[in-house]
Parts: sequence; C-alpha cells; structure tokens
Amino acid sequence: MTRRVGLIGKPLKRRHSQVMHDAAFEAAGIDARYELLELEPGAVADAVAEARGPDWLGLGVTAPYKRLVASLCDSVEADATTIGAVNNVARSPTGELEGFNTDAPGFRAAVELAMGRPLAGVDIVVAGAGGAAHAVVFACLSAGARRVTIGNRTRSSAVTLAQRFAEVGDGSVSAVALDDPGFASALGAADLAINATTVGMLEPGATIDVELLPAGATVFDLVYVPPETQLLRAARARGLRAANGSEMLIAQAAIAFERWTGVGDMADVMRAAVAPLLADDTATA
Ligand code: NAP
Repeated sequence: MTRRVGLIGKPLKRRHSQVMHDAAFEAAGIDARYELLELEPGAVADAVAEARGPDWLGLGVTAPYKRLVASLCDSVEADATTIGAVNNVARSPTGELEGFNTDAPGFRAAVELAMGRPLAGVDIVVAGAGGAAHAVVFACLSAGARRVTIGNRTRSSAVTLAQRFAEVGDGSVSAVALDDPGFASALGAADLAINATTVGMLEPGATIDVELLPAGATVFDLVYVPPETQLLRAARARGLRAANGSEMLIAQAAIAFERWTGVGDMADVMRAAVAPLLADDTATA
C-alpha cells in the first residue's frame, strides 16, 4: 500500500514541501507520496476525515486552513494550541488525528544556526503579527529570550499577539506600530531582528532599517522567495550576520517527516532536493 501525506491549502503555488518530502520518502525507502490538495473551504472537513484511513500518514496544512484543520483534529498539541495554528497533522495507528506545529521549532533551529548561539537571553525585534509571527514570538519567548518587541503595520494585531504570549517564558514582550519611534529605538538595542511579514516576498521594500542595528546583530528574514530580499542585501552590505527563511522551511519539514514516519535526520536530503527551487526566485508554480 502506498502511504499518503496531503498538503491542504488554497492557493498552493509552491512545490517546495512536495519536493522535500518525496525526496525523503525515497531516501528512507518508504513507499509514500506527498500530494498537493488545493481545496475550497467546504471540502476541507471531508479531506481531513479521509486522512483517518489506513493509507494516510498525515497532513500538511497551510493558509488559510491552519485554524480550521485544528478544529477538525481529535487532539492538538499544547504548543500548537498556544500558538493558535496547526501546520501538520499526524495519524495514529488507530486513525486518530493529532495537530501540531513545526514552524516554531523549525524557526528556532534555523535562527540559532544563523546567530551561532541560543535564543536564551537575546534581545529581539520582530516585524509582523500574522501567522508566522505567532510561531516566531512563541519560539523566542519559550526559548528564554530576554525581550521581544513586536512591530506591526496594524498596531492592534501586535498588541493582541503580545498579550497572547505575555505569560510564555520569563522575558518581556511589548508591541508597537512599525512606524512608531519605539520600534526604531528597540532596533538600536537588538541582538536579533526578524522580518515575519510578507514584505520582500509579495512586494519590494524592507520592514527593518538595518542602519539602526548594533554591529553584532543578526538579521533573519522568514522570506525565502526571492532568496535575497532587500533587507538581507542591506544587512550583508553592513557586515551583519543575515539569513533567509530556507533553513526554517527545511527544519520544519524534517521535524514533520520524523513525526509521520519515525525516520529522522532527513534535513540534508531535503536541502539537496529543494536547492534548485530555492535558487530560482520565480519558483512558485
Ligand atoms: P500573514 O499571516 O498574511 O501576515 C502578514 C504580515 O505581513 C502581517 O503582519 C501584515 O501586517 C504584514 N504586512 C503585509 N503587507 C505589509 C506591508 N506592506 N507593510 C508592512 N507590513 C505588511 O502571513 P504569514 O503567514 O505570517 O507569512 C509571513 C511571511 O513569512 C511570508 O513571507 C511567508 O512566506 C513567510 N513564512 C516563511 C516560513 C518559512 O518556513 N521560512 C514559514 C511561514 C511563513 P498587517 O497585520 O498590518 O496586515
């Protein structure tokens, strides 16, 4: 029996996940395939119900269904409940579905690699308050960040996010508008500045003025298409450590794969498989 994993979302413009997981199935000698399931909202519940069948290993979930699928699972892991988003589902041998979130641990692995040190004790500025920013802020605070300042175009979303995670970890979390002077002054003291908005991917520009950052700061951009955003170019020109979101993409996929199959250490296989797509900044088809 060929086992299945399906990615539920709409639209599904990218093949990065499919390429990584299919390469890992092949390398691990597992007869399985990763399918793209671009679904209308009314079809999601039936697709999740079908994934209880014995041929399924689990599901990937992307926008706009991360909350809807969470509500259709039998259980949701505590971290995913706190973050408010399920981006993967695992099927148990008896057909129960458990939702979990791999963006937070994937981000943590990638950003600690980029910084060359753990997140504990770090002073962090995050631009954005959408779905990805939820996983990022949760990961930073739960890993022991000292201070997290969230700046968002719509200030009220940043405030809601800061309130949601106020009790996570021992560090402090605060919220400002992106154009608030408080955002600029937080950048002046930051060890790490993160872009978790769609700026740089959907439109040109940058949310963070790298000239304000201390010389030892790291810049992390969750965007990976294009591979080098205006933000990363400016950070490198200033001599700062800088990384895009590709290692986060790979790390979160490897975590999900291990959960579905029990086979770990697939990051190198996935990195090699997805490299051509990551190098191509038009790779959205
Ligand atoms: P989302 O939920 O739609 O949130 C979008 C965010 O971008 C919001 O904070 C929004 O601010 C902000 N924004 C949009 N246009 C803006 C503009 N012109 N100026 C300033 N802020 C703007 O998106 P998401 O799912 O969080 O994804 C954010 C980014 O992370 C995307 O580029 C995505 O590809 C990337 N991502 C990468 C990975 C990875 O593995 N590397 C994983 C997840 C996401 P408002 O609230 O004001 O609208």
